[in-house]
Amino acid sequence: MIPPAEPMQRREIATKGFRKDTLPGRACITWLINNKCNYRCSYCLNGFEEPTNFKILPSEEWIRIWEDIYQRYGTVAMQVTGGEPTLYPRFFEILKGISLMHNIELQTNLFWDPRLLIDQVSAEGISRVGGSFHPEFTPFEVFLKKIVAIRDAGFRVEINYVASPAILERAEEYIAGAKDKDIQFSIISFVGEYQGKKYPESYTQEEKDILKKLNVTSGESAESMANWDLEHKKVGPIKEVEVPARVCRMGQMYTWLKPDGEAMRCCKSPLVLGNMIEGTFAFLDEALPCKLDNCICWRNMTLGEEDRWQDRWPGVK
Ligand code: SF4
Ligand code: SF4
Repeated sequence: MIPPAEPMQRREIATKGFRKDTLPGRACITWLINNKCNYRCSYCLNGFEEPTNFKILPSEEWIRIWEDIYQRYGTVAMQVTGGEPTLYPRFFEILKGISLMHNIELQTNLFWDPRLLIDQVSAEGISRVGGSFHPEFTPFEVFLKKIVAIRDAGFRVEINYVASPAILERAEEYIAGAKDKDIQFSIISFVGEYQGKKYPESYTQEEKDILKKLNVTSGESAESMANWDLEHKKVGPIKEVEVPARVCRMGQMYTWLKPDGEAMRCCKSPLVLGNMIEGTFAFLDEALPCKLDNCICWRNMTLGEEDRWQDRWPGVK
């Protein structure tokens, strides 16, 4: 009889080279593993096209790619998201493999059975499971039960909620339900278009009052959102200016990885750092000037503003 395989050991190594001493002290990656979703939220900004523009890789191939990143840069802090990431074929196998060497935050709508995670993946390499609650597609009680089961199995969890005007009404009730189970409930402001209006600029005073009362944080500028000063938070097309507005470490310490393997400097910048699947990816060796004048990223790594952003990244403490 063949004995059961030895459980694989988690290996975590420090950030390699100069990045160890460069804030935030660890390379960070947002991986949009797919752009497919089984929900159709009215406020979704992803669009609902079925993905056709990228190749599905077997789990072994992804684990090899992430092993290469591990060898070159050490353990990275990775947010795995989508679409709904768990729809990727053999997703939990991939998650199990990469969480043995990287620190993973999983963002999911949690439509799946929590046992898929609990039975296959160790909580050790998962820094957080962020369950995005979408009331148009799942009752709160069902969602809460799942996230509590994941928390009780040893994972750190959080509920995320997008403050779309479409679903703001019952937010207070959901917050109370999460608090009752001792689960963090984070509301982020809605950025984008809904029913022909641009947000966050178009929140009514009444909606702003609700958001303020609920202590909403913002994806773009926690400080300005706290004061509800929306003056500098216009959402618009990407514009470049002659003189770079700032020097930013995004690209050197961070990449935004698309489903086809193309690695961008960040979610706004057009600068491509190579392709992870084709083996041409490398982080920048230094922070570069950025010519985009309407960057509203609340975590942009502008040099000289480290006090604002260093604690917003999962670095090495
Ligand atoms: S769960 Fe997320 S990706 Fe899916 S439709 Fe809703 S907002 Fe869009
Ligand atoms: S300043 Fe903003 S747009 Fe420019 S690289 Fe940094 S995060 Fe990206």
